[in-house]
This record gives sequence, C-alpha cells and structure tokens, in this order.
Amino acid sequence: MVCGRPLTGGLDTWFQTLIVSSEKGKSDKAGAVLSGWKDLPLELLVRIVSLADDPRMVIVASGVCTGWRDALCLGTTNLSFSWCNLNMNNLVQSLTPKFTKIEVLSLRQNRPQLEDGAVEAVANNCHELKDLDLSRSFRLSDRSLYALSDGCPHLTRLNISGCSNFSESALAIGQNCNQLQSLNLGWCESITDKGVVCLASGCPNLRALDLCGCILITDESVIALANGCPRLKSLGLYYCQNITDKAMYSLANSRVTSKRGPTVRKSTEEKEGLANLNISQCTALTPPAVQALCDSFPGLHTCPERHSLIISGCLSLTSVHCHCAVHAHRAGRAMMSTYHAY
Ligand SMILES: [Zn+2]
Repeated sequence: MVCGRPLTGGLDTWFQTLIVSSEKGKSDKAGAVLSGWKDLPLELLVRIVSLADDPRMVIVASGVCTGWRDALCLGTTNLSFSWCNLNMNNLVQSLTPKFTKIEVLSLRQNRPQLEDGAVEAVANNCHELKDLDLSRSFRLSDRSLYALSDGCPHLTRLNISGCSNFSESALAIGQNCNQLQSLNLGWCESITDKGVVCLASGCPNLRALDLCGCILITDESVIALANGCPRLKSLGLYYCQNITDKAMYSLANSRVTSKRGPTVRKSTEEKEGLANLNISQCTALTPPAVQALCDSFPGLHTCPERHSLIISGCLSLTSVHCHCAVHAHRAGRAMMSTYHAY
C-alpha cells in the first residue's frame, strides 16, 4: 500500500520481490535488494511521485540524479506548473523539452506570465498532449494556438478561457486538432462567428463548449454547432446577448433530426443530447423557444434537484419548466383537488 491506495499489476510483483536490507545490502532471501535510494525501481519512483499531492514533487525529484531525471521525464504523463507564481515562462521552456510524454498539462496562472515562446516549446516537444489548461494567459497571441495546432494533434481538452488576445482566425486549430471534445473559450472576447463556424466544421466530436462572455457571437455560431456537433452535451452562452430564439429552435431541431438519422448504437449520454446549457443574461430569448429546447432535450432541467438549464437574469423565462417540474406541478395540483374533494 502507498498513500493508503492498493497497488495493482506490475507494482504488486515489485513489492513481493523487494527486500530492503538493513545492513551492507545483503539478504538471505531471494529478490531484488535496496541498499540505497538509487536502487529504488524506477517504475516505483514514477508511481510514488505521481501519487504525491504536491505537483512540484516531480520537478524536485527529477533534480536528484540523472537516473531519476530520465525515469521521471519518460514516465510522467501529468504535470502542473500552476503553483509557479514567478518563473513559469522560463521553467516551461527549460523543462518541456525533457518531459516529452506529457498528456495532461496545467499552465493556469493567477497572474499572467506565460508568453508564446513557452507554448511553442510545449507544442514542439509534447506531441502526445491531450489535455491543456492555458486559462488566464492574457499575454498569449494567436502564435500559441498555431503552434499547438501543428504540434499537438491529439488534444481532446483545451482551456483558453480569459485569453483575450486570441482572434477568431486562431480557432482554425479545430482543423488540425479535430479530436477536441472539450473547449473553454470563456471571455475570449474577440471570438466571432467566423471562428466558431470553423471550429464546428472541424470538430464533430465536441461535447463541451464554453462561449460565456464571447459577446460578438450571434445565432450563426449556435446554428453551426447544432448542425456540426451532434454530440454536444454542454454549452455555455452566458452574456451572449446577440443570441435569439432562432438559435434555440436550431438546437431543438438538431435533436429531432438526429433522432431520425441512421440508427447507430449510441450511449445513454449521447441519446440524451444537450444536458447543460447556460443562457443567463441572454435577454432576447422568449419562453416558447426555450421551452421547445427543454422539450427536445430531457437532460435539461429547471428543477432544483438537477438544475442544468441556467437562466438567471432572464426574467421573462421563469415560465419555462423541465419535464419533471411539470409532472411535480401536476401531481401537486391532483393532490390538492383530492384534498378539496374530502
Ligand atoms: Zn427536472
């Protein structure tokens, strides 16, 4: 057991054969002998470091000796520099050429430090990257997304929320990174319909898209998503005040169309379709259009237990209800009429 968790597979075998010697590294029993820290099996080292809660552990341990450095550089798939408040830019540029097997990388910042050169270092070295968090990177330009587009074609999750310098042309990243399933573009205020349309055509597997605060987008973006991304499950449109009923009907109709489409075996999640939608402050929307959407997607809820249709700030939408809220209302009325009958 390490950190209270059971070990599995090869590590179980390691533990069974290892005997830690007390003196002179000798033992009567068969098996590998640990006579000092350098003898720690490298697979075990990688596993122990990966279990540590502190993301700095990998970097500290990689500085102990060349053996540990090589093992950690090749064995580490998950790395975070978000703890780094001062030299993130330099650290990323010097370390990413060594950690070439990284699949999950967090470069989230409390204060903006990261520059395009660091993201280019990531893109040039970490070609197996699947999940990248660049949120709050105010200093990055389109250069960063062009580099990722070329170097990291396996990206499935990308968070660039708050990166206000990206233009819509950078969303051409969707043409190369067409495995993207989750993309957070919250408060990328320069994004226009042109970029979202390009994204929708390149990324048919998109499940989650956050466009909250992308104030320039219109119905054209939502229509492109409704037509191009049939697996869309979560959509954030908070404060996108150009969005009208046309967008809601387009999403509702996409559900009808996909139901009639070819019968391919789908997971329960896929069958349910859109299950999270934030249209807070989209003040142009009217109840019939949003109700039509709610009726099309049973995963959208206005009831307090499963609240997944977020409409705060839309005072005109208070009459919109999900299926279970309507049933609860009817059941309540039936109980009341029974009570009055007595
Ligand atoms: Zn409900």
